[in-house]
Amino acid sequence: MPDYSTQSARKGVEREEIEFDVLFVGAGPANLTALWRLLDLIESHNKMADKKLENLSIGLIEKGPAIGDHAFSGAVFDPSALVELCPDYMDRGFPSEGEVGREEVWLFTSDRNGIKSPLLPPFFRNHGCHIISLSRMTRWMAEQIEAREIPGVDIMLLPGFAGINVIWDGNRVIGVQTADKGVNADGTARNNFEPGNRIMAKVTVFGEGPKGRLAQEIDSVLGLQKDSINPQVFEMGVKEVWEIPVGQVQPGFVLHSAGWPLPDGESGGSFVYALGNDRLAIGYVVSLDTADPFVDAHQLLQKFKTHPRISEMLIGGKLLQYGGKAMPIGGWYSIPRLAFDGGMIVGDSAQMINPARLKGIHLGMKGGICTAETIMTALLSNDFSHASLQKYEDTFMASWAGEEIKSQRNFHRTIAHGITPVAGIRLGLSIITKGWLPCDPLKCLSDYEYTESTERYYGKKTLRATDLNAEIKYDGVMLIQKLDDLYTSGVMHDEHQPSHLKIIGSDEICADCWEKYGSPCTVFCPAQVYEMHANEKGLKLEIAYSNCLHCKTCEIKCPKQNVVWTPPEGGGGPQFNIG
Ligand code: SF4
Repeated sequence: MPDYSTQSARKGVEREEIEFDVLFVGAGPANLTALWRLLDLIESHNKMADKKLENLSIGLIEKGPAIGDHAFSGAVFDPSALVELCPDYMDRGFPSEGEVGREEVWLFTSDRNGIKSPLLPPFFRNHGCHIISLSRMTRWMAEQIEAREIPGVDIMLLPGFAGINVIWDGNRVIGVQTADKGVNADGTARNNFEPGNRIMAKVTVFGEGPKGRLAQEIDSVLGLQKDSINPQVFEMGVKEVWEIPVGQVQPGFVLHSAGWPLPDGESGGSFVYALGNDRLAIGYVVSLDTADPFVDAHQLLQKFKTHPRISEMLIGGKLLQYGGKAMPIGGWYSIPRLAFDGGMIVGDSAQMINPARLKGIHLGMKGGICTAETIMTALLSNDFSHASLQKYEDTFMASWAGEEIKSQRNFHRTIAHGITPVAGIRLGLSIITKGWLPCDPLKCLSDYEYTESTERYYGKKTLRATDLNAEIKYDGVMLIQKLDDLYTSGVMHDEHQPSHLKIIGSDEICADCWEKYGSPCTVFCPAQVYEMHANEKGLKLEIAYSNCLHCKTCEIKCPKQNVVWTPPEGGGGPQFNIG
């Protein structure tokens, strides 16, 4: 695997070595749960046991400027794992935006019409769930952790530190190298240069979110994915948070839809969640195994807002914040090996998702609980080998979370071509059989392999996305252009640093993609980072990397696999803090 760290970690620089017993990479809900549970276990052990665990140091690094800034989900949250972690979570100030109340499920048949489902499909019944902002929830979890004081245990939460490479001892993970800060695009150091650190640990838990760079490095060395039936596969979603007139939508309201404006044969849908304080999270999600080279979730969201059932909720409102991210959607058959010498993988990085319920937060949190229990045993036996850490994978797969994921193991491929009559029959059967189908397992390719050329999909060679989409009349109020939306995401990167988006092959590969596929990256990127320009040497893909929302879609969906997303220096990226 190529070493992508060469521009973000200068050679020959003296680096401080920091040692932890346990290191967590990424401050998502899975890792924060693991850290929280581990502290509980250490505390209760030390109260009861003669031989106490002392002089322990536990660290967590996070690439965002603050914990919560890169946590982007306007979710309906199943609290099962949180109840296990913290039964009195509401008394401790859990930032619920309200319990789910009225729910609607629609099949939109056109820009004006639709059929409201008279019954809620089982996987869309969210009674007892909370509407949350994942950004607010992870901040709350970090505050709960930071407030802990356990004698003999040092806890360090370190936002602004981006892990760029795994540190190895043979095939054993022994730590993580963080990015240098203050490096110019040509590799020279600026006055504010800060060398990255070598952060060493007996055990490291990787919870970097979807398509984690370090998880991919580990996979390239240890082959974590090689025994999985399917590759890791993803959806891409965009969301706007709106402030709406008081009382226009009741708190707790949830709407999901399929159908229009998604092109026929593609899979995806919408969500509308009423947050507290008269705010609305409204989003559109599309599966990244699309054949259409020009699917653009941002544009689908703009069209979706024009449907009368949706626009009536937004009238008189205003946009507060926009963002986008990729999400795992494969589930059971895409889960990699979860444990190895010196480390474990958890959460979205491990495809812990129930694709039917569109929920993974509670599953990642249960993964975090199983992780913590395994680490506790490993600390007591001082054994961080794969054999010792394998207990994590075994207990997770046998837990209610493993069973939930397994029960929807064929869901993603079943609806890969939309909600067709055949898909409906298969879905019904799999509900009765807890996931089994006559053709179980349904196999799939990597998402980019499904992308068709413009000639094959549209019957036209060298078609451009701009030739297609004339019908949206952006008004800056209801219908918002991508860059205007992006402005509200708070995205920011130091613009002197090297681009963290690496074109790994030649410019000719991108030029060929432009001819055959119309350069899908210039369409699907939710931040309009990519633009194709002609210069005296030919076609050149221009990359406005400072706009990047860190969604990783370009790495997943580039038909030529010519883009690699690497972590920029810590502290950059979006700042999601509203919904
Ligand atoms: Fe997402 Fe890639 Fe665009 Fe960044 S450049 S926002 S990772 S698609």
